[in-house]
Amino acid sequence: MTDALSIARDLIRCPSVTPADAGALGVLEKALGAAGFICHRVTFSEEGTADVDNLYARIGTEAPHITFAGHTDVVPPGDEGAWSVGAFSGEVKDGVLHGRGAVDMKGGIACSVAAVLEHLAANGGKPRADGQKSGSGSISFLITGDEEDVSINGTIKLLKWAAERGEKFDHCVLGEPSNVETLGDTIKVGRRGSQSGTLVVDGVQGHVAYPHRASNPVPDISRLIVAISDEPLDHGSAQFQASNLEFVSVDVGNKAFNVIPGEARAKFNIRYNDNHTQASLRELVETRLAKACGNRIKARIVWEPSNSNVFVTKPGPFTDLAVAAIEEVTGRKPELSTSGGTSDARFIASYCPVIEFGLVGQTMHQIDERVPVADLEKLTKVYRGILTRYFG
Ligand SMILES: [Zn+2]
Repeated sequence: MTDALSIARDLIRCPSVTPADAGALGVLEKALGAAGFICHRVTFSEEGTADVDNLYARIGTEAPHITFAGHTDVVPPGDEGAWSVGAFSGEVKDGVLHGRGAVDMKGGIACSVAAVLEHLAANGGKPRADGQKSGSGSISFLITGDEEDVSINGTIKLLKWAAERGEKFDHCVLGEPSNVETLGDTIKVGRRGSQSGTLVVDGVQGHVAYPHRASNPVPDISRLIVAISDEPLDHGSAQFQASNLEFVSVDVGNKAFNVIPGEARAKFNIRYNDNHTQASLRELVETRLAKACGNRIKARIVWEPSNSNVFVTKPGPFTDLAVAAIEEVTGRKPELSTSGGTSDARFIASYCPVIEFGLVGQTMHQIDERVPVADLEKLTKVYRGILTRYFG
């Protein structure tokens, strides 16, 4: 069976709690292989992490090339006794499919596979039927088993592996549960970047009774915190809300009342928009710090490594065709949103424009994660609409 519900149920019945695969990728490999996809199972490993299975499947060799990305791993079910049906039973109750991964995101993957299989069947087994525009096109699936935990042996490495093989992606649809309340309300077109750091102020430790022999970093770090965070980093951009720098802790580690501490530290995180790159953002903060320190205060910033860069897919023909497909099926004009936490889209964005559109996220990671079967059918139609427009 190749309809979205059957594929979703088969996937849910594989208890692929991250990073286990439990047969989930095999379900997809079988369905896609039968339709003519060339499938590659790629395992990545890294010391200190579990080996993770990934799947890359492609049909066609020419441009344009649209790829559907996703993950088959799921978060643990939690208290399985609290579920109204088995967390991995894939049971349908009153028209609603229950199970871990129903919306995040085995359901979304099932809809994309079902839509692609229908699309190929309607076009003589090819992405684009003969006689249409030049280039017969390609469709692929980039599926990882490492999204819900550390995301080290998953999409980031699969993309690199694909690039080394000469794979070129023109556009990507990531089927994460992007909708907030109702199917069709939200497409995610980007996310803010995230950068953490620690402000370190050097003082000179000493006795509180002899402050002239010491240098107290406590008043200085207070001044620096205000100097760095008082003025906004920007006022937002066309696609994003304003960037924000938030101090989250101040530490001197001093238990005594009679000692001036020798060092003070303050941790902060910045969520930044497309007015900045990681480098320009760091420079902006360091410039503010240097100005506030003058010649007197000795301070520095220790930046945390970050692979959460800001990205955005600007409105254009690709977002337009997705919006049109969504409107046609759901009757809603989706918002192009850049809110929320991170996903693998941040890695994909360095290779091609990416949009996130999937199911409604309300029950993700919860007990009784579930999706109306009607939503699976609608999302499949949306993906078909995207494919028809993309190759039309
Ligand atoms: Zn997810």
